[in-house]
Amino acid sequence: MPAYTMKRFLFVCLCISGLFVFCLGASAHVAGDADGDGLVLAADARLVLRASVELETFTGESFCALDTDGDDVLTAKDARSVLRASVELETLPETQKNTALTARKDPVVSLNGAYYTYNDLCRDLETLQTLAPSRFSYTSLGQTADGREIWCAVLGTGKAKNRILADVAIHGSEHRNTPAVMRIIEEYLRNYDRAFYKGKTVREILDDTDLYILPMLNPDGAAISQTGLEGLNKQSSKDRVQAIYRSNRSAGRTGMSFARYLNEWKANVNGVDLNRNLQFSDKRFLYETNVPAPAARDYAGDRANPEAETAAYRKLAESLPDLAASLSIHTQGELIYWDCRQPEKGRAAAKRLANTVSAASGYRLDMSDSFVGAVADWMMIEKGIPAVTVECGKGRNPIAADETPKIYEALKTVFLAVVLENTNTPYAG
Ligand SMILES: [Zn+2]
Repeated sequence: MPAYTMKRFLFVCLCISGLFVFCLGASAHVAGDADGDGLVLAADARLVLRASVELETFTGESFCALDTDGDDVLTAKDARSVLRASVELETLPETQKNTALTARKDPVVSLNGAYYTYNDLCRDLETLQTLAPSRFSYTSLGQTADGREIWCAVLGTGKAKNRILADVAIHGSEHRNTPAVMRIIEEYLRNYDRAFYKGKTVREILDDTDLYILPMLNPDGAAISQTGLEGLNKQSSKDRVQAIYRSNRSAGRTGMSFARYLNEWKANVNGVDLNRNLQFSDKRFLYETNVPAPAARDYAGDRANPEAETAAYRKLAESLPDLAASLSIHTQGELIYWDCRQPEKGRAAAKRLANTVSAASGYRLDMSDSFVGAVADWMMIEKGIPAVTVECGKGRNPIAADETPKIYEALKTVFLAVVLENTNTPYAG
């Protein structure tokens, strides 16, 4: 081979090997490989052991590659697994169970349906829990009168130092928020180590915080608004809703057609507005609505014997110590209510929360006297927890389906912003 041909051959070889090294480098997050040399050796186990006592730090995909049991912390157990893998006593999973969601191509939660039903929610909760079990779970807080579960989703381990609570779709006709919030949960889980907000990964932001989310607090009301009587399971529920319409119509309290009345239904299946149904121990805060009987909206019901959904909300809120913040997510108006007659003591924290949510969502603050005995009012006045009511989207409720992707865009960094700016700060006002 002539010298110049030889040189050219070597040059091409060099290029190919360079390309190979680059590819290897790009996909170097081999499970158990701590030093990035593409091999799993005792030296890697040593690095994991050092990381378990904070002598080394691993983040992002390197962290995932070493967290062999997917429990989100590097321990001596992970080091042991890596050591066993180095002498081929153990095979480490290339794709950990908590990255199965990352491997899935299509989104779990669709933002584009005509509407997002309770059954869609059940299916997606189950899928997310299956694909990301170490960071996501859900449980039922109880059953509604029409036989649906009141789901509580937890993004996190349930053991974190801080807690944030968000209720979604407490009003039936405000169901557009449910897929938007579910998709946000999915994106956080999917991009745990890949998405950055204010220079931190989702993992770093959520590390010390569990997000408790009630994705559809009023599933019976959502079913009525979405599909009318057809959406209800029990004949007794259908009869009750029909009777509520008839009595309101004959008393002159509504002039709407039956179909429209159902479409705009905010209450639960008993005709109680759950966002007026909470008890306030200080009688000065008892809000009297002018609706005297069960109706599609605004009837407060019997606060001493609250509805199943309200009781579930209250029980959950009282079981979560030191909630850092609470978001009550409604439609519509693209604004945030926060100034709800709360005592002076809590004003500063509530205002900070409102400012955080406003800056992240682009929704404006509304400082009008909006006290209606809502869950956000209850959180602030009864529990001393900073709380805001977020009114998403535009239009008349139920707002149009094409508002859902816009709500997703508006809310997608809100939870991260709230964690960054509203936890670890003592509630002092
Ligand atoms: Zn509402």
